[in-house]
Amino acid sequence: PGPPELDVVAHVRRLPRAAADGSLALIVLHDTTALRRAERMRADFVANASHELKTPIAGLAGFIETLRGPARDDTAARERFLGIMAEQADRMRRLVDDLLMLSRIEQHEHARPDTAIEIDRVLKGVLDLLQLKAGSRKVALELSVEPDLPAAVGDYDELTIVFQNLVDNALKYAKPNTTVRVSARPMGRDRIAVAVADEGDGIPANHLPRLTERFYRVDAARSRQLGGTGLGLAIVKHIVNRHRGRLDIQSTPGKGSTFTVMLPAAD
Ligand code: ADP
Repeated sequence: PGPPELDVVAHVRRLPRAAADGSLALIVLHDTTALRRAERMRADFVANASHELKTPIAGLAGFIETLRGPARDDTAARERFLGIMAEQADRMRRLVDDLLMLSRIEQHEHARPDTAIEIDRVLKGVLDLLQLKAGSRKVALELSVEPDLPAAVGDYDELTIVFQNLVDNALKYAKPNTTVRVSARPMGRDRIAVAVADEGDGIPANHLPRLTERFYRVDAARSRQLGGTGLGLAIVKHIVNRHRGRLDIQSTPGKGSTFTVMLPAAD
C-alpha cells in the first residue's frame, strides 16, 4: 500500500506452465502517478487557456452587438468602444504569442543551447526596448555589468525573452519614482548571475513556490489590468531550465523583489 494519492494499475496473469493447478499468478504493478499528474496538469492548462481567451472574446462580441444596435449613431461611444475592442484584441494576441512560445520551448526542452553569449549585449538590447515603458511608468532603469564578465552559454533570443519578461514585470509592479536595477556579475568559477531588482509591491512568501506555474498570479485582476498573461514566469523558468541554469526569487512584501538568473559561463 502506498500513499493515498498514488495511482497504480495492476495486471494479473495466470502462469499456466509454472503452476499446472493454476494457483500461481504474475501480478505486474505500474505506478502511473506521474503520468496521471501530467494528464491532469495538461487538462487544467487547456481549461485555463480557454477561459483566458473566452473573456476577451465575450467582451468583443458584446461591443459588436452594442455598436450594431444602441451605439450605432453615437460617435463618442463608438470611438470609446473601438478603443476597448482594440485592447481586447491586443490581449488575445499577447496570450496566443505566449502560448506559442511555451509550446515551442517545450518541444525543444531537452536540447541544450550552446552558443557563447555576451550577456551585456542581451541586457542592453532589453533595456533599450523597455526604456520608453519605464519612462511612462516614471521608473528609472539602471544597468551595471561587472568588468570582465565571462560570456554565458546559451541562446541569444531565448535569453532576451527571459530578461525582457523579468524587467517588464519589475516595471509593471514597481512603485512610481523608484529604480529598477539590472546587474550582472560572475558567480564562482563557472557561472554568471543576472539580478533584476525592483522597489515594488513585493510578493508574500506563501506565493513564491507557485509563482512560475502557468497562469499563477498573486492578484489576477491587477495582472490583467497591467496587461499580463500569467505565463511570463513559466516561460522564464522553462528557458532557464533548458539552459541548465537556476532562477532564484527573493521578495519582501511592501519593499520589492529580486529575480536572479544563474547561467553557466563559457570556458
Ligand atoms: P503576469 O503576466 O501576470 O505578470 P508572470 O508569470 O510574469 O505573469 O508573473 C506571475 C505573477 O507573479 C504576477 O501575476 C504577479 O502577481 C507576480 N509577480 C511577477 N513579477 C513580480 C514583481 N517583480 N513584483 C511583484 N509581483 C510579481
